[in-house]
Amino acid sequence: MIIYSPELSPKFSEFGINIPITDDRSLKVYEHLRKRLGENHFSKESKLIDKNDVALVHTPEYVDELFGPNVATAIKRAFDDGIGGTHYVGGTEKTPEDFLKHILAQAGATYQCMQNALAYDFCYFLGGGMHHAMTTHGRGFCLINDIMIAIRKLQKTNFISTAWIIDLDAHKGDGTAQIAQGDKKVFTLSIHMAKGWPLDKEDTTGPEFIPSTIDIPIAEGEENQYIKKLVMALEQMQTIAKGLPDLAVIIDGSDPYEKDTLPGTHLMKLTGDQMLQRNMTVYEWFKRKCVAQAYVMGGGYGDESWRPNAYFLERVHCGGGQSQSGGGGHSGGHHNNNRNHHQNRGGHHNNKRHFHKKK
Ligand SMILES: [Zn+2]
Repeated sequence: MIIYSPELSPKFSEFGINIPITDDRSLKVYEHLRKRLGENHFSKESKLIDKNDVALVHTPEYVDELFGPNVATAIKRAFDDGIGGTHYVGGTEKTPEDFLKHILAQAGATYQCMQNALAYDFCYFLGGGMHHAMTTHGRGFCLINDIMIAIRKLQKTNFISTAWIIDLDAHKGDGTAQIAQGDKKVFTLSIHMAKGWPLDKEDTTGPEFIPSTIDIPIAEGEENQYIKKLVMALEQMQTIAKGLPDLAVIIDGSDPYEKDTLPGTHLMKLTGDQMLQRNMTVYEWFKRKCVAQAYVMGGGYGDESWRPNAYFLERVHCGGGQSQSGGGGHSGGHHNNNRNHHQNRGGHHNNKRHFHKKK
């Protein structure tokens, strides 16, 4: 199942946020897949996230800022341009409060995605993945951390006990690492550019350097090591976490793609085939272990950045999919998945509620 709705994907420019990059990746993925899959695989359903949910992750001071008269200040900070200014200039019909509402809707869809994944083993939300937001403030184009909010909400309501976050975005998942630091139920793995933002500071005592459970920095020119290191890290996670999680959340950033146009991502250049291999490696790993998988989009910039996400979803749903060099075998879609996976592991599932398959 794929969550997509045009209302969940308005352009940043509508809110007066002027990032000099295109932001229609979700729409392009949707249009590509709709032609091949039809409408049946898509859902517009979403949950509501409120102030109390945001407070599961963010500090009371930050929550007050977001839900009080100073929300514009919070947005300016989250969209700071790195040189003392901000990408948030406002001046449109839509207010800062409208933008917060939009971001809460995104977080609601992330939460829905995780619930769907628990019910159907797999769900992909064409949005979300705001992994740079920390407990005290938003940053790196991320106002709140939808991933951690959704996980904490699922834990609070006993849908899950444990989760892993697998962050494939080119930028280190530093907000998520900061929030999940010391958490014995949430484990984080981030594979990212060894250099460049947010790791481009000489002073390494800042929160962006708080380690994930496992960090895999990939140096420029070492893209051929990527898959091998990723597989090793997944195995290592299982050892560190002493077992498998109730839910795996994957941040499917397409900014490691060689055709990504954000200037800061030129330090990592995976080819289209490497991107597909990256995704299939993670997908098959969790599928083999019968772990439910929820995907959010993360970063990805420029006219071509939709392709890795779309080709991955095509492969998952149709088996074949489209390799960028052609070809692509029929490995079977997730529909063949073992639906009885809850019995296969034992231990920590007792508090997990089961969903009914709706269609
Ligand atoms: Zn990124």
